[in-house]
Amino acid sequence: MAERKKKLVKTIKVDVDKCNGCRACEVICSAFHAAPKYSGNNPARSRIRVIREPLKDIYVPVYAGEYTAAECMGRDKYVIDGKEYDECGFCRASCPSRDLFKEPDSGLPLKCDMCESDPTLEKPLCVQWCLNDALVYEEREEEVEEEEKPEDVEIGLESLVDKYGLEKVMDSFARMSKSKKG
Ligand code: SF4
Ligand code: SF4
Repeated sequence: MAERKKKLVKTIKVDVDKCNGCRACEVICSAFHAAPKYSGNNPARSRIRVIREPLKDIYVPVYAGEYTAAECMGRDKYVIDGKEYDECGFCRASCPSRDLFKEPDSGLPLKCDMCESDPTLEKPLCVQWCLNDALVYEEREEEVEEEEKPEDVEIGLESLVDKYGLEKVMDSFARMSKSKKG
């Protein structure tokens, strides 16, 4: 029988009515994940994006979720205040059908990591920077079955192989390791 263990579940509750589309969350997220940290900011590298419809005063923050190698078969259609949104508009996936939640230079998938850092932050930065309380951080403990999840580096490699093929990725690694040694 699979072992059960306690897991800390971190949630950010999004109150769409309180969001005014200021995009401070995008700015701080991209700055936090810049290399080196805070060396720049570019919302295209953020793990949260705000879908904006200023004329209707509609702003919907969406968090980057899992990487997926293939487009999904079904789509969701959202109609808010009479405006019909793009079918993939509010999806969290980093998927081949669009550029959202992909690192602009490398094309590598972006995923919200809840601002993982050492020492751990009291609250994720997008929550701290949202002055309108549209993002509310919550924690709870749940009992779950132990499962092995792929590391971020594995997900990144998988996306490269999906995009360029295994042979090309292996060749590039061989070249890079030669130049590093040399
Ligand atoms: S910081 Fe808050 S109010 Fe501003 S865009 Fe992000 S979620 Fe909306
Ligand atoms: S929790 Fe951290 S990593 Fe996730 S979107 Fe907010 S700032 Fe970015």
